[in-house]
Amino acid sequence: MEQKLTKLKEEALAALAEVTDSAELEPFRVQYLGRKSGVLTTVMRGLANVAKEDRPRLGALANTVKKEITSLFEQKKQALAAGQTPEDSIVGLDLSLPGRRLPVGKLHPVTQVMEEICSIFEGLGFAVAEGPDVETDHYNFEALNIPKHHPARDMHDTFYISDSILLRTHTSPMQARIMENQEPPLRYIAPGKVYRCDSDITHTPMFVQVEGFLVDRQVSFADLKGVLTSFLHRMFSDDLAVRFRPSFFPFTEPSAEVDIACVICGGKGCRVCKRTGWIEILGSGLIDPEVMKMVGYDPDEYSGFAFGLGVERIAMLKYGINDIRLYYENDLRFLSQF
Ligand SMILES: [Zn+2]
Repeated sequence: MEQKLTKLKEEALAALAEVTDSAELEPFRVQYLGRKSGVLTTVMRGLANVAKEDRPRLGALANTVKKEITSLFEQKKQALAAGQTPEDSIVGLDLSLPGRRLPVGKLHPVTQVMEEICSIFEGLGFAVAEGPDVETDHYNFEALNIPKHHPARDMHDTFYISDSILLRTHTSPMQARIMENQEPPLRYIAPGKVYRCDSDITHTPMFVQVEGFLVDRQVSFADLKGVLTSFLHRMFSDDLAVRFRPSFFPFTEPSAEVDIACVICGGKGCRVCKRTGWIEILGSGLIDPEVMKMVGYDPDEYSGFAFGLGVERIAMLKYGINDIRLYYENDLRFLSQF
């Protein structure tokens, strides 16, 4: 009886070591630990036939063997369920497959183009200044030579918060704010969001503008043309045709709108350029002497130029986008192309 139990224990442990799959666990359990016809049960039934005085000792031994086998069986079961055996963990693993990549975020196309514009002007010696989106009527209009009831105010479709507080309609207020506090020479660009009550295929109620200005002694229209032409050549291409067209802005005199040869048709004429071959790209001019006086500069001593451009518009021409609203619909299929 004792020998039988020892042999049974050895056999059971050897058989358990062979088990490598959860599916093999149940047949093992039935064969060795099964209540009805398991090997262990059969041996224990034989206890009835041994001598009375040997029964307690052999009974205790049989129980110990049962406990040991059961305990190791449970350990094996848990290990297989957790996939801990090395054989198990590489099942279905194909080392030749490429790894899974996490989707990488990108900067918005408008932000990318704005950063490119800023870096070109920084290369030309301009510093970057940022100001508040909520602005006073004074800095947005009055200080830029647009008094109350001036017809130019109609062009701005302003969002007013109160009579004297508004959402800035351009980033030009930074011009007055900087000139008030500093002495020339000054070279600044002011990028940022601006707001106008307008929405269609080429307008959104919020858009991004870069305004820039330069003030020094003996600044002329030739300086303005040189700086802006150089900027446009770096932004688009070195052989891009640029023309300056007379215009009017209350805060510059004389004023000019700047056109570039249509980047879609190369100047031959198409739907985008309305068959003219030219596309309007920015507004500019020499700073009006009235604006100089308002910040305490002597217009006989100092002169300067200013310009403003819409970042979305430049990005549309650069990437051939035909609807400005695409920028703000947050469609990843569109945004991930840049
Ligand atoms: Zn064209």
